[in-house]
Amino acid sequence: MKNLVVLSGAGISAESGIKTFRDSNGLWEEYRVEDVASIEGWYKNKELVIEFYNKRRRELEKTSPNEAHKSIAALEKDYHVTVITQNIDDLHERAGSTEIIHLHGELTKARSVKNDEKTYDIGYNDIHPGDTAPDGDQLRPHVVWFGESVPELQRAAQAVGKADIFLIIGTSLNVYPAAGLIHYTRPGCRIYLIDPQPFRLNLENFTQIQEKATVGMKKLMEYLTES
Ligand code: NAD
Repeated sequence: MKNLVVLSGAGISAESGIKTFRDSNGLWEEYRVEDVASIEGWYKNKELVIEFYNKRRRELEKTSPNEAHKSIAALEKDYHVTVITQNIDDLHERAGSTEIIHLHGELTKARSVKNDEKTYDIGYNDIHPGDTAPDGDQLRPHVVWFGESVPELQRAAQAVGKADIFLIIGTSLNVYPAAGLIHYTRPGCRIYLIDPQPFRLNLENFTQIQEKATVGMKKLMEYLTES
């Protein structure tokens, strides 16, 4: 079976009703990134950060995977699929994908401030100021904030290095180091990018499908069937 690796970003979940950060009407218009997605923000105002992610978790519980998440799960019939997602939502899991690398953490998990290796499943429940992990330290969202290391990066790069097909969907390729994963593709790897915004990428074997995620995935399925 051929290896198909997906790199997904906030845009794939937009049609499920979860806002992206950068688009107009995105979350950055309501919050400052440094306030809610950095360790400095955490030490400045833990309550704000905890509440920001509690809201995201409550919103996630009410949403469902869309046709793009489901099409990616369906590709497992014909390909060995690895999903690398920058998203902290669980919509790929709920759509049925089985091999998922969460580069930036998961909303449904928490960890202590001291220990970033042990995580705790919290489902869609809130975290409260004063909630502690067994090590006695405050629980924080299991989310990789700007400036923090990305422990899953190496596993993701290895997967990209083995890809026959690399599909990038719903990401502006602005957030590093995730955006750099494209450089791990091997010669001959076919690269598709699905995003409504135009991209200029000077790479061989590159095709952009300039569409929203659900329509773009339909077109991609047609291309893959034809080839
Ligand atoms: P980003 O920089 O990857 O930008 C979002 C991209 O999605 C843009 O390129 C935009 O053109 C595209 N897009 C918008 N609507 C789309 C649609 N319907 N179909 C396909 N593409 C669409 O991401 P960001 O929003 O700036 O987020 C920064 C970080 O925060 C990333 O790590 C991101 O994954 C994370 N985040 C996660 C979620 C989530 O878990 N659902 C939501 C917001 C942000």
